[in-house]
Amino acid sequence: MSTLLLAALREAVGPAQVLTHDDPAADLSAWEQDWRQRARGRALAVVRPGSAAEVAAVVRACAAAGTSIVPQGGNTGLVVGSVPDVTGTQVVLSLTRMNAVRAIDAANLTLTVEAGCVLQNVQEAAEKAGFLFPLSLAAQGSCTIGGNLATNAGGTQVLRYGNARELCLGLEVVTAQGEVWHGLSGLRKDNTGYDLRDLFIGSEGTLGVITAATLKLYPLPAAQLTAWAAVPTLEAAVALLGLAHRHLGAGLTGFEVMGQFALGLVDRHFSALRVPLWQDSPYCVLLENSDSESEEHARARFERLLETALEDGLVSDAVVAESLAQARGLWHIRESIPLAQAEEGLNIKHDISIPVSRIPAFCNDTDALLQREMPGVRLVNFGHLGDGNLHYNVQAPAGADAKKFLNEQEARVNALVFDAVARYDGSISAEHGVGSLKAAHLPHFKDAVALGLMRSVKQALDPQQIMNPGRVLVSP
Ligand SMILES: Cc1cc2nc3c(=O)[nH]c(=O)nc-3n(C[C@H](O)[C@H](O)[C@H](O)COP(=O)(O)OP(=O)(O)OC[C@H]3O[C@@H](n4cnc5c(N)ncnc54)[C@H](O)[C@@H]3O)c2cc1C
Repeated sequence: MSTLLLAALREAVGPAQVLTHDDPAADLSAWEQDWRQRARGRALAVVRPGSAAEVAAVVRACAAAGTSIVPQGGNTGLVVGSVPDVTGTQVVLSLTRMNAVRAIDAANLTLTVEAGCVLQNVQEAAEKAGFLFPLSLAAQGSCTIGGNLATNAGGTQVLRYGNARELCLGLEVVTAQGEVWHGLSGLRKDNTGYDLRDLFIGSEGTLGVITAATLKLYPLPAAQLTAWAAVPTLEAAVALLGLAHRHLGAGLTGFEVMGQFALGLVDRHFSALRVPLWQDSPYCVLLENSDSESEEHARARFERLLETALEDGLVSDAVVAESLAQARGLWHIRESIPLAQAEEGLNIKHDISIPVSRIPAFCNDTDALLQREMPGVRLVNFGHLGDGNLHYNVQAPAGADAKKFLNEQEARVNALVFDAVARYDGSISAEHGVGSLKAAHLPHFKDAVALGLMRSVKQALDPQQIMNPGRVLVSP
């Protein structure tokens, strides 16, 4: 059977674009290993189509053979969703050859790109045309727009521009039956029935393959300023967020929080980065102000905000970047936290969301709970506070064997944190998705009716269950 399928795949995309283990020169590890090194699979083949028609032919061949398909973009996902399982029977469908910018419509403020376009290239294409495409995350040099939409990625600009979902007007999708849905609409209003676009966004490759998207563009800001503030408590950070919304309105485009231990790791492992103001404060905050008028206007508003915050005791000290280079340096510190944490050793990651108003109480309670249950654990707490999204990561006690801690304690730590998230009406996956890492947890934390509706959608769109099986939904 697999010989017949491989012949059909070669027919569909050309022999050079079908990579298998039979070829001793082919190294498939880049497609088989996930970014976090949590899982390594084995593919029957890696197939690299160059057009939507070729994707459709690949899907039809796999459907005829009953072979499952794992769509893959940049393979930067953090929940083990884009690599094959270990059976050697799944086909990895890599979209990276489909990387054309198809069209820019300046008057409509839209950009149409193929799914395999790397996010940074999409941002650059927008900027070259004089616009902003605001989706922004630390993996932007490798992740693709198809992967961003399939995971409904978030990042650092969500509080102003929304997730990937809010930035997308239309999609082109190859269905699980190998048909092409031409839905590349640039319309901001279209109430003609169910929103199929929103079904595929966030579906993590389990309903179909996104092959292209029409995205929203925004005017480039005239000025962008970044400030770094030390705050005395998490409660003060939340109050500062409210104040910043009131002072800056739509100009507030970034609001990140970073715990002292997280910043201490950056200081320890990347001392050249010179982390400001972290030693005397439990938390620091990074704020970004985008202004449509001028740098002077932006600076005046920012300084007023920070003066008020200092007077009100919400901020104990603050610096405003004097240049673009300084601003980039501050963002670089924030984005270096995951790398510093990796340098410190293996750890247990959580990507959770809680209503912003309840974040301080959640952290106070859950920090204390973890210390009681596992004395000495170290919390690497940071994230997109403006969106209520924390990366609430747990590191082994100092001097402990990190690998042993991960193997022995991960299930218990997850149970403690996820139960606490549920008590605070939060979500166990804010922006990274479910993949296979969280699929088994979903039935415990998702509303039963919602889960039943999700299963019905899956059954209707992919009755053969060939699209990325075992991801998002596990068998009941
Ligand atoms: C350093 C780092 C920082 C990160 N920061 C953030 C962050 O701030 N916010 C955030 O949300 N995420 C973040 N991520 C996670 C990751 O970058 C995002 O999930 C990203 O959207 C994945 O894109 P990708 O192209 O790499 O997709 P992949 O990893 O290849 O795939 C992810 C999922 O999407 C599916 N998929 C991929 N392409 C398609 C397609 N064309 N059609 C259908 N399904 C498809 C896959 O099957 C898989 O289930 C970060 C990752 C790293 C490594």
